[in-house]
Amino acid sequence: MADEKLPLQSENFSEWYNQVILRAELADYSPVRGCMVVRPYGWALWENIQQSLDLRFKATGHVNAAFPLLIPMSFLEKEKQHVEGFSPELAVVTIGGGEKLEEPLVIRPTSETIIGHMYSRWIKSYRDLPVLINQWGSVVRWEMRTRLFLRTLEFYWQEGHTAHATSEEAQEETLRMLNVYADFAENEAAVPVMRGRKSETEKFAGAVSSYSIEAMMGDTRALQSGTSHNLGQNFAKAFEIQYLDVNNQLQHVWTTSWGLSTRMVGAIIMTHGDDQGLILPPRLAPHQIVLVPIFRSEEERSKVMPVVDRIQQELSGFRLKLDARTEVTPGFKFNDWEMRGVPLRIEVGPKDVEKGTVAFARRDRPGREGKSFVEQTNLAARVAESLTDIQASLFNRALAFRKAHTFESSDYGELQEAVLKGWAYAWWCGSADCEAKVKEDTKATTRCIPLDQPGGRGKCVVCGQPAAEKVYFARAY
Ligand SMILES: [Zn+2]
Repeated sequence: MADEKLPLQSENFSEWYNQVILRAELADYSPVRGCMVVRPYGWALWENIQQSLDLRFKATGHVNAAFPLLIPMSFLEKEKQHVEGFSPELAVVTIGGGEKLEEPLVIRPTSETIIGHMYSRWIKSYRDLPVLINQWGSVVRWEMRTRLFLRTLEFYWQEGHTAHATSEEAQEETLRMLNVYADFAENEAAVPVMRGRKSETEKFAGAVSSYSIEAMMGDTRALQSGTSHNLGQNFAKAFEIQYLDVNNQLQHVWTTSWGLSTRMVGAIIMTHGDDQGLILPPRLAPHQIVLVPIFRSEEERSKVMPVVDRIQQELSGFRLKLDARTEVTPGFKFNDWEMRGVPLRIEVGPKDVEKGTVAFARRDRPGREGKSFVEQTNLAARVAESLTDIQASLFNRALAFRKAHTFESSDYGELQEAVLKGWAYAWWCGSADCEAKVKEDTKATTRCIPLDQPGGRGKCVVCGQPAAEKVYFARAY
């Protein structure tokens, strides 16, 4: 497979995306339309994402638990906006054990309702608060148009659900987790993100306010890569989650929810990849290094392999893959691991053994530019330095790309042009009509109202009325 050329990103980004996922063996199509099979290489990447997020959740005081996949239909109907938002996407179970069920069960599209129900039983007093629980699992949303990792009927994610004594604490938690996502995206995935509030039209069904991190993909489209919702008392009232406060008064709690999914894998693919395939950030790559021995004879082999064995031991602190296949050429291996996005390749041949060197080839700089010969001494330190540099250069490159494709738009004509080649940053009056007009005319939607605002006031880029905030408009996945 590796010797066949991938479609060029510049010619067909969408086909490049599909092909790279299949060929790198991240995922495959399932016999059920719209479902995805995550293959071991893709799952290894997801596990690294999980681990680094989970550390951050624990460090901010959260614990993990597991709630059931099946939810009584009546639970979803308790919160009006929630059921309106999710009912077109629900998968419903009506038969169990051969019998028609008295009450249909939905396969969770998200778990606010069942968790709200449980919280109403667990929370009695202010001493029980805050409740800070996360769950790792999968959910089902019956999507019509699906793409591997970006939108599938079933997807994997985590969903955090917290309950607090005050509105201020809930808001603080909502923003804390938004910042956790942003920190993860930028420092682990090397994906620069814009943090902001979603518009009323774009917010989560049942939330008071929703926040997201938005990333620019290699084709300049936006990808919502994680969301954090302040649910106010909407679910607390629907599920009667109440507590006795310090004055022995009965109060409703304030809740939040926040989620990040396997979409992040799509974000990594489309932010960093190039015409040769994937480029994975070292901090999350399943294999940080591929070690390729090079020899043409038994004599060369006997010189090279002891050095390769020693290097493998020295680098045991890294996620290293030794490619010892003998049925393919080194050139084939180079292409194969480039396509799979391994950040650093180390080659060891007979000449390297004589000189006491190895060859480094950086995935982020293809060809001669990314190649260097380094001493075998202190190899672990040299590798660490190189991986750190690759991680930083991937982030800086993506940030420069976003800057180069973000345009201040002061009138409607500029906005229409901007969203064809990137993101438009413009004043917006906040009206859903103006938002709808942009969507109708250009297919671009409001992505987020960034937390960092310039201050002052301007004129809405659509209607010219006074506007207090600036927003990003972009075509999105
Ligand atoms: Zn307007």
